[in-house]
Amino acid sequence: MEISKDKIKAYALKNALHYKGKANPGAVVSALFNEGLEKDKVKEVMPEIQKVIKEISKLNLEEQEKEFEKLKDLTSEREVREGLPELPNAENGVVMRFAPSPSGAMHIGHAITGSISYDYVKKYGGKFIVRVEDTNPGNIYAPAIDLLKKDAEWLFENKAEFIIQSDRMDLYYGYAVALIEKEKSYVCTCEAEEFRKFAKEKKECPCRNKDLKENLKDWERMLGTKKPLFKEGEAVLRFKSDMNHKNPAMRDFPLARISLEEHPRQGKKYRVWPLMNLSVSVDDIEMGMTHIIRAKEHRDNAERQKMIYEVFGKTYPWAFYLGRIHLKGLRLSASQMTKDIKEGKYSGWDDPELPTVQSLKNKGYKPEAFWKMAEHIGLSEVDKTLDKKEFFLLLDNFNKNLNK
Ligand SMILES: [Zn+2]
Repeated sequence: MEISKDKIKAYALKNALHYKGKANPGAVVSALFNEGLEKDKVKEVMPEIQKVIKEISKLNLEEQEKEFEKLKDLTSEREVREGLPELPNAENGVVMRFAPSPSGAMHIGHAITGSISYDYVKKYGGKFIVRVEDTNPGNIYAPAIDLLKKDAEWLFENKAEFIIQSDRMDLYYGYAVALIEKEKSYVCTCEAEEFRKFAKEKKECPCRNKDLKENLKDWERMLGTKKPLFKEGEAVLRFKSDMNHKNPAMRDFPLARISLEEHPRQGKKYRVWPLMNLSVSVDDIEMGMTHIIRAKEHRDNAERQKMIYEVFGKTYPWAFYLGRIHLKGLRLSASQMTKDIKEGKYSGWDDPELPTVQSLKNKGYKPEAFWKMAEHIGLSEVDKTLDKKEFFLLLDNFNKNLNK
């Protein structure tokens, strides 16, 4: 759909009048989206918007009002949505979290996703938690924890509570025992392949009906406090869900396993490690999470976590599942960046060529620019593709507006 110059001007004036004479290009783009502007046309329209904003910035408020009077019929009566939609049950504050994996420093993708939740915490008040989920000892990039902490401090103005899961192992063990005692969990010694067959055929495995005493003893054999010890791969703790669940992957899913690999932070202190559905549920319960915004590939995990919540008589938080944001022309993979840095392709995490928070910070971007970008991208379950150029055009504009 063609967007006329007058329409652009009308919306730019409307926005300028809202903000003491200064229009925000991002807000004008958002308004034009509601008018049918297509995402892939932003690049074409942006120079026009910038030109119009420049022109009207030369007018004083009175002149802007006069101009707007002439054009206001071109703007929709419907108030243009600014910022993120309201969350339900948020009036009394929220507790929200962002959980980057310990695979590297934060990149643009983290900055956007994290900022969406942070925007909400700022809006409603409450608590924002950045939680590093490092309970898989074999899959941790050791410097990541410090890198993430530094990025979080900058991006979220030192206001995020920074939590490292591997420092909270006793808590996860406590919940594991509670689940065993509630007979909602059992130690399974079937081989993986064998269990998969049981699950597929909706049959209970022989471990499922062990008595409580036996189960607690087997748990200790996993932990290494009772002999004979289970070796790595010999036993897992499973959640007793429903062997008839329509999705085979939901049937008695695992909660904890043995890994003898050395943990970069905890060393050899632990041999049993919670899997994410256990540690994430425990933390979300303990931290009183009220709203969760996460990537949509976690939908199945959320269903598993809901089952754990139910055992403890808790109501699962309001949850939203974000679609992926593809940035055409950028490869947003922390593990790939780690590899490339190791191989010397980049000088470090702050290499100007990398789309990391550190590198963008050095280039003069402010945290607010990312918050605004997050607001602009908004809550959407649909995957979005943005061109690298288009993304930076928007980000630059958000950033420029802050420096004024
Ligand atoms: Zn079994």
